[in-house]
Amino acid sequence: MAEKKEKKKSKIKKIQSAGHMRKIMADYFYELNNAAKAGSPKIAWCTSVGPAELLLSMGFLVYYPENHGAILGSTRTANDYIPVANAIGYSPDICSYLTSDVGAFIKGETPLTRAYEGIEGVPKPDVLVYNTNQCRDVQEWFNWYSKELNVPSIGITTYRNIGEIHDYHLEAIVGQIKDLIPTLEQISGNKFDIDKFKHFVGLSRDCTKLWKKVLETNTAVPAPISFFDETIHMGPAVVLRGSETAIEYYKLLLEELEGKVAQKDGAVEEEKYRIYWEGMPIWGKLRDLAEFFIDLKTAVIASTYCNSWIFDAFDPDDPFTSMARAYTEIFIVRDENFKEKYIEGMINKYKLDGILFHDSKTCPNNSNNRYGMPERLQKKLKIPSLTINGDLNDLRCYSEEQAKTNIEAFIEQLEAK
Ligand code: SF4
Repeated sequence: MAEKKEKKKSKIKKIQSAGHMRKIMADYFYELNNAAKAGSPKIAWCTSVGPAELLLSMGFLVYYPENHGAILGSTRTANDYIPVANAIGYSPDICSYLTSDVGAFIKGETPLTRAYEGIEGVPKPDVLVYNTNQCRDVQEWFNWYSKELNVPSIGITTYRNIGEIHDYHLEAIVGQIKDLIPTLEQISGNKFDIDKFKHFVGLSRDCTKLWKKVLETNTAVPAPISFFDETIHMGPAVVLRGSETAIEYYKLLLEELEGKVAQKDGAVEEEKYRIYWEGMPIWGKLRDLAEFFIDLKTAVIASTYCNSWIFDAFDPDDPFTSMARAYTEIFIVRDENFKEKYIEGMINKYKLDGILFHDSKTCPNNSNNRYGMPERLQKKLKIPSLTINGDLNDLRCYSEEQAKTNIEAFIEQLEAK
C-alpha cells in the first residue's frame, strides 16, 4: 500500500492580508478581461513606471506586461517561452520578461488562464504606452506588439544615468507627456480633463505613501515581512496605483504588519542577520530562497526593487511636473554616485549587516554590481557584500547549488565579524 505523503509545512509565516490581495488582483484581471471582450473601456498597456495616471484619467484600463512577465517567472513557465522569442530573433541575452512574454503570446498561452477561470488570454491592447526611464527593452517589447497587433505604440524617451535632476530634464519630459494626449484622446474618445488627471495623481500619491510605510515597518527588529513576500505584496502598487482599491489594501497590510512589529513577530524566527537585496528578484525561486534564508536565521528585508514603486514626488496640484519628477527620480534612472548614497542610506536606516547583489543576466539595468559598486560600498560601509549570478526569469542562468554555497559562506563571514 502506498504510503500517505505528508504535506511539508512551510517555514514561511503567513501574511493574513494575502487573501484579500489575491481577491483584488483577480478582480483586476477579470475587469480587464471583460473590457477586452466588450471593447470598452479601452485598454492601454503600460510599462511599469510609465504614465499610468494619465491613462487612467483618460478612461483607459491599464495592463502591465512586466507584471505578466513576473507571473511567467513565478509560475516557472518562462523557460517554456523564452526559446520561442529567441527563434524569431530576440536574443537570450535581452530582457527575459520580454522574451518570455512575447514567446507566451506567440504560443497563445498565459498562466492567467490557469489562475482565473474563464480568462482565455491576456487582454488585447488599444494602445501601448512606454517610458524608457527603466530601459530600452520596454520600447522594443512594445514595438513588437505594435507590429503584431497593429496598435499604436507611443511613449516617453527619458534621460538615463543622471545625478541631480534639473528643470530642463523635467521640462523635456513634461513636453513628451503632453504630446501623448492627442493620440490618447483619439483612441479613448475622451477629452483630456486636468481635474481627472489631478485626481489620479492624488490616488497614486496616497498609494505610494502607504506602500512606503509598509516597507518601513522593516526598520523594526525583528522585521515583520521578508523581501520575498514584499515582491508579491507590491502587486497592487504596480498595477492598481491610481485606485482606491490599492489604498484600502495597503491600509490593511500596514495594520497587520504594525501588529507584528508590536508583538515582535518577525518574518524570520530568531532573526540574527539583516540583509539588503540589490537587483531583480529571481521570480521562480522566491519561496525556495525565502525558506533557505529562514534556515540561516537571516532576514532579507530591504531592497532597491520594492522601493522602486515609491514615488514621493506625486503632487496633484502640479500633476505634469510632479509626475515627470516621480518617474525620473527613481533609482534605475540615476548615476552610480546617487545609487551608492541611496544604498548607504538604506543600510543605516534598516540596520543591515550585508548586501546581496543579484547579477541578473538579462537585466543589466537592474544589476548594479558591474561597475565596482560592491567593492566601493564594502570599503566605505565596512560591511560585506556578495554577488550571486542568476536572472529574473531565465532559470538557466541560475545555479542553485553555487548560489546557496556562496550565501552560506557569506553568512559564515557575518558570523565571524
Ligand atoms: S528593467 Fe530589466 S527587467 Fe525591467 S523591462 Fe527592462 S530589462 Fe526587463
